[in-house]
Amino acid sequence: MPEISYSKEVLRDLIEGKLPWSATKSIISGYKDADRFDKYVEILQEKVPWPERILLPLTDELYIVQKGEERVIKCSCGHEFGEYRVNWKLRALTHVRDTEEELNELYPYPGAPDPQYCEIREYYCPGCGIQLQVDTVPFGYPVIFDFLPDLDSFYMDWLGRPLPQEKEFKDLSSEFIKKEWLNE
Ligand SMILES: [Zn+2]
Repeated sequence: MPEISYSKEVLRDLIEGKLPWSATKSIISGYKDADRFDKYVEILQEKVPWPERILLPLTDELYIVQKGEERVIKCSCGHEFGEYRVNWKLRALTHVRDTEEELNELYPYPGAPDPQYCEIREYYCPGCGIQLQVDTVPFGYPVIFDFLPDLDSFYMDWLGRPLPQEKEFKDLSSEFIKKEWLNE
């Protein structure tokens, strides 16, 4: 099978078309060499108004960037969500729809999920107010951590150039909750 090659222009079109993470990920997965990934990131970098280096796009609006010795999640507007190993949703503005009335605002009757079993969680950027993600989950379900990338492996094994200040590949969300919310 011939290898598919994306020109910078095609990539830009794809990006302008507002790719969800799943599509972005499949494009990134299609990269056989660092050059194409670099082209992709280069286009994203040109689009954002801040200087921090993009390490990996997470969603249409969120990026993991290098900030000094840290890797933080940043919205395209510039708002920072902090350490990338902590689920950014914990630091987003959250609106939960868990009443029949609120669910019906989104779904025409009788299509709405039953508020006895389901709730819809909408996450917004505190900086620009854009809606970042919507999760429909069973009532009381833990906050979904969509994707924790193994950045060091990705850069070292895939791109062949390790990142500075290697970080332990670990979900730090529960530590964040204990420290920030429970004051433990
Ligand atoms: Zn924002």
